[in-house]
Amino acid sequence: MVCDVLIVGGGPAGASLAILLAQQNWRVVLVDHGRGRCSGPYETLLAPGRTMLSRTGLSAAIEACSEVDPLRHGAIWGTSAVAWRSEGEPGLLLRRGAFDRRLCEQARRVGVDVRMATMVTCVGDEWQLATTTGGERLRPNHVVLATGRTTRAVGEASAVAAAPRSLAFTFTGTPHRDDRGTALVEAVGSGWIWTHAPHDGVASAAVIVHADELRAVGRERLLARALAESGGAAGRLGDRQLANVSDATPRLRPALPGVLRIGDAAATIDPLASQGVEKALAAADHAAAVLTAARAQPDWWLRLCEVHARWERGLFDAHSDVAAAWYRREQRFAEHAFWRARLLPVVERTPPSFSQSFVVSPQLLRAQVLVREGHTFVERSGFSDQVTGEQATHCGYVPIEPLLAQFATARSLAAAVAGAGQDARLFVLPPRAVLAAMLQLVQRGWLRAATNAAGVP
Ligand SMILES: Cc1cc2nc3c(=O)[nH]c(=O)nc-3n(C[C@H](O)[C@H](O)[C@H](O)COP(=O)(O)OP(=O)(O)OC[C@H]3O[C@@H](n4cnc5c(N)ncnc54)[C@H](O)[C@@H]3O)c2cc1C
Repeated sequence: MVCDVLIVGGGPAGASLAILLAQQNWRVVLVDHGRGRCSGPYETLLAPGRTMLSRTGLSAAIEACSEVDPLRHGAIWGTSAVAWRSEGEPGLLLRRGAFDRRLCEQARRVGVDVRMATMVTCVGDEWQLATTTGGERLRPNHVVLATGRTTRAVGEASAVAAAPRSLAFTFTGTPHRDDRGTALVEAVGSGWIWTHAPHDGVASAAVIVHADELRAVGRERLLARALAESGGAAGRLGDRQLANVSDATPRLRPALPGVLRIGDAAATIDPLASQGVEKALAAADHAAAVLTAARAQPDWWLRLCEVHARWERGLFDAHSDVAAAWYRREQRFAEHAFWRARLLPVVERTPPSFSQSFVVSPQLLRAQVLVREGHTFVERSGFSDQVTGEQATHCGYVPIEPLLAQFATARSLAAAVAGAGQDARLFVLPPRAVLAAMLQLVQRGWLRAATNAAGVP
């Protein structure tokens, strides 16, 4: 059997990519083994992400499977008092099981060949699909892995970057009447707990703990301890039942040559962010543009896979920085195993002075780079970092080429900003934006401190 794209994994990332591609007349096979489990009855979609979500074309599915979050949100973090969030635009509460099923149904309606309860194995350049009733061989032009946060995905090597291992235990139960209508994130000595207590029905509490401590202390004792430490809604949850256990470790997976990994299969972020679904849908949109470009320019395929892997890495790094800042805000439990492993020292970076001189790093070469333009990628002249593989034409909206031209010979930042004011490609831009772009290039290592003949900066 021949198809254009085989997508392994029918969660938000895989199913929404399948829909986007089928709408452009790709022949898509979407396979799910059906063993994926949702983290809990609801997942949160944050208010700032709602604009992006409305651009995915999946608004109807999102609306049908979610409700405007009616809960009052608060945090017990860094202090034992609850800090209630001031009212802003509400987010959404997404019913994940229903949402995933609806996406797969929508995929089927737009012509995707959806195979549920199907196992996939890769043998050479063939992919074997197996169900309880038989098997089939597939030779797809492209393969996309959207297998989520499973610890070992198809063709898996070890993770490139992984935070300390976390496990999430989700309990359901009856909330105390005073807790109804609230959602609370609470730091406790053994980890942190995220409790949703709706106005009616059962509440859920996801308890996130350190996997090493779980082994040392034992599961029952550690969970009982975490819940006893809670001064919030989780500690008051009656008739508690363990509903789900999932791996909650932030992890960046290695790029596989010629295979696209998207969503959690590429990079799993800390659940503190509440943005995993948003990231999965954004990844599907990015991957659709990658595949559209590959259809027009098949020889770009390997480069496009690298572009997507760098995009996933960029998001993972940004989320890791935000999560690290959150963990640093909680110092009460610095001696506890969970927090010791996550309280990372701050790397102090002194910003360079205006009088300091810089030159262009020799690791930077001119290159034709692929950049996103609308629903596809185009080739533009830009720069490529020989060490990190990073490529760019712009820093934000500031073009890099005229910026680097300022540092062809050693020049101070102050002189370079003044020089940029004389360059027709830069003088229309605010000097502050030009300086910020130069500082970004310093941070990336693309501008290096100039040294004298003795090697002294
Ligand atoms: C405790 C916890 C709480 C969270 N809360 C939130 C939240 O509030 N808001 C939010 O936005 N995100 C949240 N997340 C993150 C969110 O669940 C994920 O980021 C999101 O599900 C990623 O979507 P995905 O499509 O990449 O992967 P998944 O949703 O994991 O989908 C992967 C699919 O692939 C299938 N699969 C896996 N392996 C194979 C295989 N070998 N063959 C065939 N099929 C396979 C699985 O059955 C599954 O259907 C939370 C995560 C955790 C752990």
